[in-house]
Amino acid sequence: MLRRTKIVATLGPATDSPEALSAIIKAGVDVARLNFSHGSAAEHLKRAQQVRESARAQGRYTAILADLQGPKLRIARFQDNKVTLRSGQTFVLDAAMDKAAGDSSRVGIDYEQLIQDVAPGDILVLDDGRIEMQVTAVDDCSITSTVLIGGPLSNNKGLNKRGGGLSAEALTEKDKQDIRTAAQLDADYVAVSFVRTAEDLHTARALLREAGSEAGLVAKIERAELAHNDAALDDVIQASDAVMVARGDLAVEIGDAELVGVQKHIIARARALNKVVITATQMMESMIENPMPTRAEVSDVANAVMDYTDAVMLSAETAVGDYPREAVEAMVRICLGAEKHPSMAQSKHRLNETMSRVDEAIALSAMYAANHLDGISALVCMTETGATPLLMSRIKSSLPIFAFSRHPSTQHRVSLYRGVQTVPFDTTEIPNHETNARAVARLVELGIVQEGDRVIITKGDYADAQGGTNSMKIVQVGQEIR
Ligand code: PGA
Ligand code: MN
Repeated sequence: MLRRTKIVATLGPATDSPEALSAIIKAGVDVARLNFSHGSAAEHLKRAQQVRESARAQGRYTAILADLQGPKLRIARFQDNKVTLRSGQTFVLDAAMDKAAGDSSRVGIDYEQLIQDVAPGDILVLDDGRIEMQVTAVDDCSITSTVLIGGPLSNNKGLNKRGGGLSAEALTEKDKQDIRTAAQLDADYVAVSFVRTAEDLHTARALLREAGSEAGLVAKIERAELAHNDAALDDVIQASDAVMVARGDLAVEIGDAELVGVQKHIIARARALNKVVITATQMMESMIENPMPTRAEVSDVANAVMDYTDAVMLSAETAVGDYPREAVEAMVRICLGAEKHPSMAQSKHRLNETMSRVDEAIALSAMYAANHLDGISALVCMTETGATPLLMSRIKSSLPIFAFSRHPSTQHRVSLYRGVQTVPFDTTEIPNHETNARAVARLVELGIVQEGDRVIITKGDYADAQGGTNSMKIVQVGQEIR
């Protein structure tokens, strides 16, 4: 059985050797994530090149996702690199003090605007939720708090406000520079962190295009404002190509109790609006140090698959963990297992809606036929940009969708879409009346279909037109195909 749910894996020191990288790609990585919160431009360029080389050697179409750091708020540094905070003590965040002079009573902050964005009573959360403090006083250059949950705290740890509302711009100067690096390394996707509005994505897209990149944009949903405002969330989804349920920061802002419901909501909205969705962070956290996931992690990955996410993501597990290959293998196994559940092939996608686009009507009709007609074993779409396979893969099904495309960018782009595989294929070089027969012959060669199987084919009248899909045909392997 072909796995339908896609796997995004973050690269880092643990995957830098050619052996480690090819091992995770071989194990099933569909999208390699470059985390711009760490590492230099030169490192990212090198990693991207290694991914392209390893994928090519293995006949794979692994995409590259460049993930921008965004305005992640961080504390400055401590004299001794690390302190331990006690519950009940007072602690000061001080914008005026020396950035390297922190101690167990105060530490510097990078972002002075923070002082305007917090008020007494607010809860500040540090280090991905490990430390909590409540603000008691704010003056011109410092914030005084009482520590609610103490523990160790080291240099440059992240800082969030419970409930959200920190007003930093989504694109920092560093991000703008990193967008140029992403264009240079030919990223297939670029992720924008701490997105607030659709405008953030328009800006990012303009900068990307200016830098010569056609990459798809991923909006990371990690601010409480979006989780709690459906209209704002829909706007952001519509302005993106894909969204990420960025559970690390999101959970810190909204609290862990609501997280699972919010995840289900974001996945459902993205799919309803014909967009792709990635579920991310701490999916296999214990595998940073262990070769096996916990039951809770197995359940978390399976739950995301059953929510019908397009992709699940590994972060530190592959970037700095001891078992990167095992983490990917475990994800593959759990995805395949969860996909077997009968509910995974039943769809009510937009059953009560009308539509205005012809390619959309063809895509949805093809999937309806595929799910209801006996003997279908594959769908083939002749596609320039991947738009038709994207629409098709919004519908739940257990049948594989094959994006036949001549463009490497499309071959990579679709590697994030649930249930979609690519087959390089240049319809402009084939006489029109032979395209279908050749496409089916290719699937036979690949061992995907055999004599007697039915295949659904969609295409447009003109081999090189975008968004021109206007026909669907059902053929049978072994019979004459036109
Ligand atoms: P990050 O994004 O790892 O870049 O913070 C993902 C998340 O917040 O979950
Ligand atoms: Mn984040």
